[in-house]
Amino acid sequence: MTGEGTRPRPLVAGNWKMNGLRTGIAEVRAVSAGLAAQGGPAAVDVLICPPATLIMVMAEILKGTQVSVGAQDCHWAPSGAHTGDVSPEILADAGATAIIVGHSERRADHGETDSMVRLKQEAVHRAGLTAIVCIGETKGQRLAGQTIDVVVRQLQSSLSAGTTSANTVVAYEPVWAIGTGLTPTLDDVADVHSAIRGQLVDRFGPDGRSVRILYGGSVKPQNAKELMSIDNVNGALVGGASLKAADFLGIVDAYA
Ligand code: PEP
Repeated sequence: MTGEGTRPRPLVAGNWKMNGLRTGIAEVRAVSAGLAAQGGPAAVDVLICPPATLIMVMAEILKGTQVSVGAQDCHWAPSGAHTGDVSPEILADAGATAIIVGHSERRADHGETDSMVRLKQEAVHRAGLTAIVCIGETKGQRLAGQTIDVVVRQLQSSLSAGTTSANTVVAYEPVWAIGTGLTPTLDDVADVHSAIRGQLVDRFGPDGRSVRILYGGSVKPQNAKELMSIDNVNGALVGGASLKAADFLGIVDAYA
């Protein structure tokens, strides 16, 4: 991880959501082959978060490549009577290196609150993995001019005191931009990322400058470069466009 005054190393993370059969592994092979064909040391970290059923097989396939495997959610307990849930320890055992927590679809579909997200982040750290903590405003909140307030409140309540640049990545994902083809203006992205950076530095000191802040919400090969050129945008969390190797590689290229 880079220090004060330098840009953190970019991360491009793909979130497959509830998509991906075993046939989808061909896309992952194509991503890792595409990166290997470019040669040289990678200037960007690349992560793919498939459904939990594919983590183990992907981790095997991607061993020794530039691509890591992550998970999309976890329970905060290490084990126990939680039917249908998976813990960070189980996901780590399967080969995950990072876990997304607090995605807006989890918050909306499963009523996840900031304090639940914080418990999950702490659990991810307990298992020695990186937490990718998602925050972002709804369309109504943006129209009401509440974006910065909402994002700052989510950040304060969702991040634990043990947050460091080595164990946590923040993903700013405006809810209204996810899967819609809409994106905020570049100035709007810059304002929100700058507010997030300010909060991280206020709370965690100089190390807050090295915490990676990803932008997520309708990132595509066509807009990835301009998003990456914004200060404090240190990579992307990519949903739909991560499902096809060619699109995902097009985005990774913009961040390399
Ligand atoms: C996401 O779900 O994290 C996301 C950013 O989705 P999409 O890229 O499809 O908008």
